[in-house]
Amino acid sequence: MIISDLKIYRVNFKINKSRRIYYRTFNKIQNLFVLIKTNENLIGIGESTPIKSITGDSKNTAFRLLSQAKTTLKGCDPCDLNSIHEMMGNTSRKSGVISNTAINAIDSACYDLLGKSKRKPVYQVIGECRWKNVLNTVTIYIGSLENTVNETRNIMSKYRKYGIKRIKLKLSGQPKIDKKRVMAVTKLFPGDLTLDANEAYRDERIAVKIFNNIYDLVGDRILFIEQPSPRKNLEKLRYITERSKIPIFADESTANLQDLYKIIESHSVNGVNIKLQRAGGIYWGKKMFVLAKKNKLDVMVGSIQESGVGVSQDVNFLASISDYVIGSDIDTDLDLENDIVTSSSRIPFKNGGRFPLKDHGLGVKIKNSVKTLMGSTSKIDVN
Ligand SMILES: [Mg+2]
Repeated sequence: MIISDLKIYRVNFKINKSRRIYYRTFNKIQNLFVLIKTNENLIGIGESTPIKSITGDSKNTAFRLLSQAKTTLKGCDPCDLNSIHEMMGNTSRKSGVISNTAINAIDSACYDLLGKSKRKPVYQVIGECRWKNVLNTVTIYIGSLENTVNETRNIMSKYRKYGIKRIKLKLSGQPKIDKKRVMAVTKLFPGDLTLDANEAYRDERIAVKIFNNIYDLVGDRILFIEQPSPRKNLEKLRYITERSKIPIFADESTANLQDLYKIIESHSVNGVNIKLQRAGGIYWGKKMFVLAKKNKLDVMVGSIQESGVGVSQDVNFLASISDYVIGSDIDTDLDLENDIVTSSSRIPFKNGGRFPLKDHGLGVKIKNSVKTLMGSTSKIDVN
């Protein structure tokens, strides 16, 4: 099978409510999509979510690298992932255009094609692991105490039917307010929590004090805290990890395989959050996973403002390593006002976890209304 064509689309999504984390707020989402067509009439799909402050690349950079891939990948075998990634690496080096989210989209489309050609879901062609359910968090973003209480109630009523067992709470870096919000959520919600500071705690001593204070009040119900301190300062991260009673995970500090080597060398965390958009897809995510496991780091799998397409890629990756992973945070598709995938091919949320689809490849199907638009324009608003 060879690649005969590659198409790129910019798609705008609306979200129900704004999503505020420590260093930015999301009010809407624009992602890039690639469709890779083959000489055997199969189509693979991938999503790229470039957000400079998170993924390091911009939408224009990702678009430029995808445009170059249109020429360089034509005639290649999409199922030969080693060659595809080597080709993307070379294209990136030669042109100086660096974009892991673009590489992720290509990776997704190629794995989709690999699954379709082998007539298996992607997670079954990635690895040998026996799939088990991994509990998934739904996120409460930064807001007032009142807003946090309301959000907890909303999430509990909206996701009760999906068996929700974990909530993730975004922290603001203001210790007193954060503590009150954590206490309010734990009082209402009977399950476990994970916390995510997105680098908000600039003073490592304050971070340790507040985290241990929270642990003394709530105990093991707080499973771990993601990225308490600035991403580049691994000394601060290690200081906190060595003293915190709650396990500490790297997220922004461990964007890709190179970062993970530094994290391991610095002994600065208990675990890592692997996100395919930053890693450069399943191919690189797997390498990160193997390295993390070898070094006895706990692993979670996260997502970055993805719709149903990226989420299917994430969940297939998660399922392929699920015997080791301790949690996932794949929820960005859940409150999209509209998705480009059909409602029957949205990734299920049940028994508190996200489940891969049984269909071949990624299993996602594009809505007819979006397909029609894709035939006539490369810029699409999903309403
Ligand atoms: Mg995080």
